[in-house]
Amino acid sequence: MVGFLGFAESGRLKLGKRRGNIFVSKALKKIKPQVRAISAYALTEYEHEVKINQNENPFEIPQELKEEVLDAARTRPWGRYPDFVQTRLAQKLAQHVGWTSEGILVGNGSNELIQATLTVTVGPGSRVVIPTPTFTLYQLLSRILGAEVIEVMLKADEYTFDVPAIEQAVSKGKADVVIVCSPNNPTGGVMAPEDVERILRTTDALVIVDEAYQQFSETTCLPLLKQYENLIVLRTFSKAFSLAGLRIGYLMARPEVASEIAKAKLPYNLNFFSEEAAIKTLEHWPMVRARVEVLKAQRAVVYERLKRMNGVKVTPSQANFLLFETPFDPGQIFLRLVEQGVLVRDVSKYPMLSRALRVSIGTEEENGRFLEGLESALRELRTRSVKREP
Ligand code: PMP
Repeated sequence: MVGFLGFAESGRLKLGKRRGNIFVSKALKKIKPQVRAISAYALTEYEHEVKINQNENPFEIPQELKEEVLDAARTRPWGRYPDFVQTRLAQKLAQHVGWTSEGILVGNGSNELIQATLTVTVGPGSRVVIPTPTFTLYQLLSRILGAEVIEVMLKADEYTFDVPAIEQAVSKGKADVVIVCSPNNPTGGVMAPEDVERILRTTDALVIVDEAYQQFSETTCLPLLKQYENLIVLRTFSKAFSLAGLRIGYLMARPEVASEIAKAKLPYNLNFFSEEAAIKTLEHWPMVRARVEVLKAQRAVVYERLKRMNGVKVTPSQANFLLFETPFDPGQIFLRLVEQGVLVRDVSKYPMLSRALRVSIGTEEENGRFLEGLESALRELRTRSVKREP
């Protein structure tokens, strides 16, 4: 096997032997230096019974709804391309959010729309202001495109947005794009619409507000779209709508801005199955909203329990997850939870969060398993540290 480069069945990259390696290093020289300098967005798999690590919705969509989608898919020719422009879904969304369908773009997950927006806006020499810590994809894509990233740290108390510092960074650094994740992943805080408006007024930069978790919060900056042409709002079907596996996101902007971003989307980006599922799930919005309310009530329960745990600091959240910190190494807490079948997210590599983990809100039972698991992990680590003291 020489000069061979491919994917092993495990999904791991398999490199060829000597000649293969020579080929690879030559090829790597053609990869942009800024790409080689960054680490990939990666996720390690662990066995688990309770999966509360990716802010997914624990409530599966009802079987009858799945049957409706499957029936539509069964009668539609699979050999034909899906809609080039997803007008039906865009129109449904227009009614749902109260914005013109010409200003709505549908993507293969909101990830694709983040990528498309950055592709048409930034490149070498551009500046992207990102309140940090936040969803790492913004930074990754900006850097791949060659832009300079200006990070503005959240406030240290409860990881809220430092709006004056963002305004300053935007005006001083002559930003081209500002990305605000509200509610912010992984901290859960929101930026008040008045603060988004202050930033919109300060700058000509495009302000992208990622509202992936908006349905779990009390706020939105959607009404600002009428007044500010430099605002772009992103949402997804992956969280409140329980459709993460089908990859559907949407973007709202002024129609003239949306048309430019659409140029960077891949043709036929949404398959007909996903489009149908999104349309049908939107028709069941009251069910979705009721489930969101259950998760919000569970979030309050988990928050209170964490708050009462000795030594644990939990951050108030308006999303379907909570950030918490303990006096112990997050890696140790993570592994003890994994041993008990509970998978959360260790976010300690994020700036400012060296003691933090993030837990998604699951069903009542799942949350109970997590809380018991955490209490037992803390007991064990406390006993250990006491024993070690002289
Ligand atoms: N934005 C934020 C803030 C997220 O946390 C995520 C998913 N973790 C996404 C966007 C991507 O969502 P999608 O599944 O729609 O690509």
